[in-house]
Amino acid sequence: MLSKCANPSCSTTLRYLRSGKLFKIEMEGPVLVNGRKPVRKVEHFWLCGICSETQTLTYDHALGVRVLDKPMLIRRAAAS
Ligand SMILES: [Zn+2]
Repeated sequence: MLSKCANPSCSTTLRYLRSGKLFKIEMEGPVLVNGRKPVRKVEHFWLCGICSETQTLTYDHALGVRVLDKPMLIRRAAAS
């Protein structure tokens, strides 16, 4: 899971945790039918240095983990 950048269109492999950004994302496991609460699990994702400058990770119940552009940086780049 943590062997490469979480951006699907980036193939940078994880060698140094110092570069890039590590995300700890808490997600709900499968809903159990016997009345017990769904188990929450924590997964780690990594964005490489280049991707983490312009992108971030988010978790959505329906869509799972997604890579999003950082809106502030896009606006700043468009203004210059
Ligand atoms: Zn990357």
